[in-house]
Amino acid sequence: MRVTVIPGDGIGKEVMEAAMLILRNLDLPFEYTWMEAGDEALKKYGKALPEETLNECLKSDAVLFGAAGETAADVIVRLRFELETFANIRPAKSFKGVKCLYDNVDIVIVRENTECLYKGLEFEVADGIAQGIRVITEKGSERIAKFAFELARREGRKKVTALHKANVMKKTCGLFRNVCRRVAERYPDIEFNDYYIDAACMYLVMNPLKFDVILTTNMFGDIVSDLAAGLVGGLGLAPSANIGEKHAIFEPVHGSAPDIAGKGIANPSAMILTACMMLKHFGYVEEAKRVEKALESVIAENKTTPDLGGNLKTMEMAEEVIKKLEQT
Ligand code: ATP
Repeated sequence: MRVTVIPGDGIGKEVMEAAMLILRNLDLPFEYTWMEAGDEALKKYGKALPEETLNECLKSDAVLFGAAGETAADVIVRLRFELETFANIRPAKSFKGVKCLYDNVDIVIVRENTECLYKGLEFEVADGIAQGIRVITEKGSERIAKFAFELARREGRKKVTALHKANVMKKTCGLFRNVCRRVAERYPDIEFNDYYIDAACMYLVMNPLKFDVILTTNMFGDIVSDLAAGLVGGLGLAPSANIGEKHAIFEPVHGSAPDIAGKGIANPSAMILTACMMLKHFGYVEEAKRVEKALESVIAENKTTPDLGGNLKTMEMAEEVIKKLEQT
């Protein structure tokens, strides 16, 4: 397997070092190529996503990505489009020992990744007037809806909930909702319902156990996944995968976190869980579960970074995971 590793900016570099320590410890047949992208690459090469990096990503089986700062739109958003990774999967799961609103949340957000307002079709149409175009297609909606139901089946999940705002955005969200409802009919074994996005945000905070798989459009998915990360203890614990027909990009939900970058205190868990998603994608399910279990024990014993109440540094927490792995 050929993996392009892009640590990027800020804490991206720190958490990538931690995740790579664990991946290397597993000794799997992966060939890693380190490439540059992000704010620092822009300063160095004049391009946030140098051609060399993009070409390497296109040639590899997967991209493992840390974070990009100010240039995120030109790097990770562009990579998702260029590699046509149409499905963004963002699980939000409670961890024992982490103080949060609920201790038994287990949600997977399936977000469409190539359409909607994030397509970047923005224009200044006149002085003081800016316009953005929201693109939703039947093909794109069908592809992501099918993906969500297949994921539900594969993971033994019971319910898919589509989120939209079809009462206001009648054409774009109307199309998305109608396609989701139509696809749902082909999966009678999976329960289906849909909510308006605003109501769903309230339900998520008041009763997240109502949700199992969430299926939604690009921008709503981005917002709702940070909300869900907050429910289970913050961005330091939220991994994600971008999956397409040919390519896959694995990245934590968090960004470069300039407020804590360089201090060595970033929580490596999101990046480690992201690496586990990559392992599962390549069929190394047992190895991924071993790492997840080791991380769970480390968190339960409060051997964590400050965001989770502990006093360890990023690499110290990663080393604790390695110690647990060696005991199993
Ligand atoms: P960017 O512009 O790169 O997206 P940001 O500050 O807008 O950066 P995030 O990087 O996602 O957004 O961080 C949001 C908040 O969550 C920050 O206060 C940050 O310190 C915290 N945070 C994010 N990731 C982690 C982590 N891995 N460990 C600890 N705290 C984190």
